[in-house]
Formats: sequence, C-alpha cells, structure tokens
Amino acid sequence: MTTRTRFAPSPTGHVHIGNMRAAIFNWLYARHTGGQFLLRVEDTDRERSTPEAIKTLLEAMDWLGLNVDEEPLYQSTRMDAHLAAAEKLLATGHAYKEDKGGTGQGECIIFKMPGTDIEFTDLVKGALKKPAADMADFVIVRSNGTPVFHLANVLDDIEQKITHVIRGDDHVENTFRHIALYKALGAPVPQFAHLPMIINAQGKPYSKRDGDAFVGDFQSKGFFGDALFNYLALLGWSPGDEREVMTRQEMIEAFDLVTVRSSPAQMDLRKLLWMNGEYMRAMKPSDFAALCRKELAAAGVVPGANADIVFALMQERTKLPSEIVPSTAFFFSDDFAYDEKAVEKKLLKEGVFQTLEKIAGILQGLEQFDVETVNVALHNFVEQNGLKFGDVMPPLRIAVSGQQSGPDLAPVLAILGKDNVLARIRKTLARFRA
Ligand code: GLU
Repeated sequence: MTTRTRFAPSPTGHVHIGNMRAAIFNWLYARHTGGQFLLRVEDTDRERSTPEAIKTLLEAMDWLGLNVDEEPLYQSTRMDAHLAAAEKLLATGHAYKEDKGGTGQGECIIFKMPGTDIEFTDLVKGALKKPAADMADFVIVRSNGTPVFHLANVLDDIEQKITHVIRGDDHVENTFRHIALYKALGAPVPQFAHLPMIINAQGKPYSKRDGDAFVGDFQSKGFFGDALFNYLALLGWSPGDEREVMTRQEMIEAFDLVTVRSSPAQMDLRKLLWMNGEYMRAMKPSDFAALCRKELAAAGVVPGANADIVFALMQERTKLPSEIVPSTAFFFSDDFAYDEKAVEKKLLKEGVFQTLEKIAGILQGLEQFDVETVNVALHNFVEQNGLKFGDVMPPLRIAVSGQQSGPDLAPVLAILGKDNVLARIRKTLARFRA
C-alpha cells in the first residue's frame, strides 16, 4: 500500500516551527517510502484563516521545499460531507441528538463512544491505551450546525486516504476518540505517529516569548530554507550516526518514524545559527560573493578591487547575511567606525600606543606583505618583546578595522596592504592619543 501522509495546519497568519517540523516529518516519511505527501488546510475558523494567512502558509512551505503531490484540500469546502457523515452516524446509532443544557438553542449531535477500552500502537510512543470509563461521548456537530474539529479531521483523513497521521503529541488524547470515529464510520484506521513537543530551556513549550518561533522570522533574517529544514528535521530525530549537516537526499534515505524520539526536543537557536553557517560555507564561492555584493549594495558600500579575496576570507565565518556588511565594510573604506567598547577595553590601556608604534615600525620594514610574512613578523614581535598575543592582536585589529573580532589578522593585514595598514595605525593613534 502506498504511504500517504499529510500536513493539516490551521492557518493563523504565522507558521510556528513546531507545525513546520510536523510538515517536514510527514514530507520526509512520504519521500522515504516513495509515497505521497498531501496538504489539507483546516480553515474552518474563517476569522483566523484569512486568504493572507493561507498565503503565508503556502509561501512558508514553498520556501522550505515541501512540495505536495496533489491539490490541497480546503476543509471549509467539505462541510456538507461532514454533516452527511454525522447524519449517517445518527442513522447507524453511533450518534444521538441532544439539546445541551436544555437552553432551547437547538440540538447538537453527539457521538456515542463504544464503551470499550481503546488501544493503539503509536509509531513513536509505542502502545497506548485508554479505559472506556475515561472516555465520554462528545459533540460532533454544534447546535449552530457546524461540524467539530474531530469529525472534520477524521473525515478528511478518510477522504484523502491518509495511511499515516504524523502530528504533534498535543493530539494524542484526541486520537482515542478519532479511532472510535473511524470504526463507527467503517473506515480503516490509519497508523499514528505523535511527535514530541519542542521545548525551551525550561522544558516548557517553545514559544515566541523564547525567541524566533515562526518560519517567517527566520526567513526575514536571511536563514536558508534548507538550513532551517535540516535543523528542524533533527528536532526529535537523528539518522542514528554522527551526521548533522545532511542533504535532502541523505535525510530522505535515513528518515524513519521508528527512529523518532519520544522525549521532548529542545530548541537551540545557537545550533540553528551554526547550521546556517555550515550551509553558508558550503555555498559556491561565486554565489557567496553575489550575496555579499547584494548586501553591500543595499548598505551603499562599494566593494573594492580586493573584494573577491575578502569574500573568500569571510565565507568561512559568516553565519547570516546580516553579518556581511559589518564584517567587511572596513576593507572597502578607510572611514570605518570604531567599536567604542573595544576601544575602551583594549586600546586605551597603558603601553598600547607604544606597542602599536613599534609594530608599525616592524611592518614598515617588511619587504613582502603576504600572509605568511606578516604572520611570522607578528609572532616574532610578540615573542621578542615578551608580550602576549592578547596585548598585541586586539589593539592592532581595532586600529585597522575598528573592531575587536574578525578573521585571522594576518590575512586581513595582507589584504589591506602595507600602506593602508600603516596609514590606519597612524590615524588611530592620532585620533585616540588625546
Ligand atoms: N489543524 C490541526 C492542528 O493544526 C490538525 C492536527 C492534525 O491532525 O494534524 O493542530
């Protein structure tokens, strides 16, 4: 039997990463098994599921490369089918009508639980069971005539011939009721896989209050869709070996539901940032250069003739596009800003100006100004003067770039060139040596 999975979000205008992780696991499982991945938009809440909200959802899926194999099913178009099924349940004695509370507001349709224990084997959580006594009958059609989530959800899964329902474990409790509905409707019960929650550092559900939580947040910060996909795939699943940065194909091959962990997965924004850096590093140098040029152009910085060497140096250590301008602009303009705190801490210290003067003298005397020569000269200088690297490199870096951190200093100096380095040291001394 062909596997058919689905993503069944209720669009709200924001796509939480927890939902997207469910979509990713559904997509991976369908691709792994050579099956189909479908989308069902559970848009019965017309106030929240606006056309805008649906557009946001589709764009997020598109950005993450979650292609679907059939036209999406919009739940709001299925109301007649849902109500017809409720009538069928009434006719077969699986449901009854009741005027809840006797308020005269009309009758709702109530599903009659079978009165037996219900058990199923969740592909992630294992065997789950609920005694009959703990399960009450429940409303499937409200007194205003609208179908309730449980009925709509189950009927649409039947309609879409879903074989594997993969979703967040906030739906575990619903599943017992859903299974009773499938049986009453005479439909085959799908397999279920309930995914562990995504939690914050305190073990609580990860939310906007903990940091970026919506797909759009990451997209607008310049994260790669592929990096976010890769990171979310590892929230609750691993390939069973050390691999973390993986291609789509590698993930498709390695993915399985039995290897999904049942314990909560902790969101780690720093790890996601690291992951993005790995994708940045793996870019074709020409693509990275194009990204740099785009960022610089937007900031009005004109890259000089040395640009491609600068980009090559920065590719290794850039994690987000927004880092590019602050970390490269000083290469292209002598008029860079000084990081005040760094100046305070590292430059305005006893003996630092003399050190800078001395090192300027050493650099001036170099016949070559390539990375290796500069590097040896810096090392020798530190050693011969009984200094520490921390006494020399930070002030020198600030003098030529205004910043406290950046890539290895020797290549930075070599790219800037001797004359420029000396001029910048002189300028820095003149400016801060009040
Ligand atoms: N619309 C529901 C949700 O987003 C569907 C859950 C499901 O069955 O996947 O929670």
